[in-house]
Amino acid sequence: MINLKGEKNIKVMLEGGKILGQMLQELGNFVKPGITTNDVDKLAKELVFSFAKKYPKAKIQPAFLGYNGFPAHICISVNDEVVHGIPSEKVLNEGDVVGLDFGITYYGWNLDSAITVGVGKISRQAQKLLEATKKALEIGIDMARAGNKLGDLGFSIQKFLESNDFAVVRDLVGHGIGEKLHEDPYVPNYGEPGEGEVLKEGMVIAIEPMATLGDWHVALDKDGWTWRTKDKSIAAHFEHTVAITKDGPLVLTSH
Ligand code: MG
Ligand code: MG
Repeated sequence: MINLKGEKNIKVMLEGGKILGQMLQELGNFVKPGITTNDVDKLAKELVFSFAKKYPKAKIQPAFLGYNGFPAHICISVNDEVVHGIPSEKVLNEGDVVGLDFGITYYGWNLDSAITVGVGKISRQAQKLLEATKKALEIGIDMARAGNKLGDLGFSIQKFLESNDFAVVRDLVGHGIGEKLHEDPYVPNYGEPGEGEVLKEGMVIAIEPMATLGDWHVALDKDGWTWRTKDKSIAAHFEHTVAITKDGPLVLTSH
């Protein structure tokens, strides 16, 4: 069942999304050679704490910590890790590609957003992958309009990435979001025009293209969380929480 949100709800989600956007920007700027992914997780925890103190009524909390047992504040996925990587003592090195996927709750509403950043200087191919995946997200967002179908949205992302010789991950998809982190519908980054659920005003969805330099097949690690490319190729992931309004798509988590 798809939960439609009223204008007031979307306004509150937008406030929370702006906070998440600021946090993610700070986390992205913090990434540099020599730090560990645990250091990034620690900063994510501190950011939640400081914003929660600033806006006590909003009861800001990390959305992923404890979600289905996830053990950290933020998902950090390095190089061939696609999503849901667990922070660790792993040291980041020049040339690594790091996906930061973060979520908070704000007045009980979930917000979810992700960026992928390079550590120092990264390869030209990796840089192109990051730029294309970010652009694919923008293309998908532009399709998030009442009357369009989810197949139109997925197709637009897939077509752009594949025409640039990148592969689109199939096994993991975007999702509806609101009082729960994951709500209906599934929001695939692939599809056929004219197929799937019709988008309606009041829907709030997390659009999150995942692309790779190699093949699209992924596998779950032994840790039960981390998804990696099977061919060990580098992956990128960008995500925004987006509301479908009468005036078109409204990005709630911009930064
Ligand atoms: Mg996410
Ligand atoms: Mg998500």
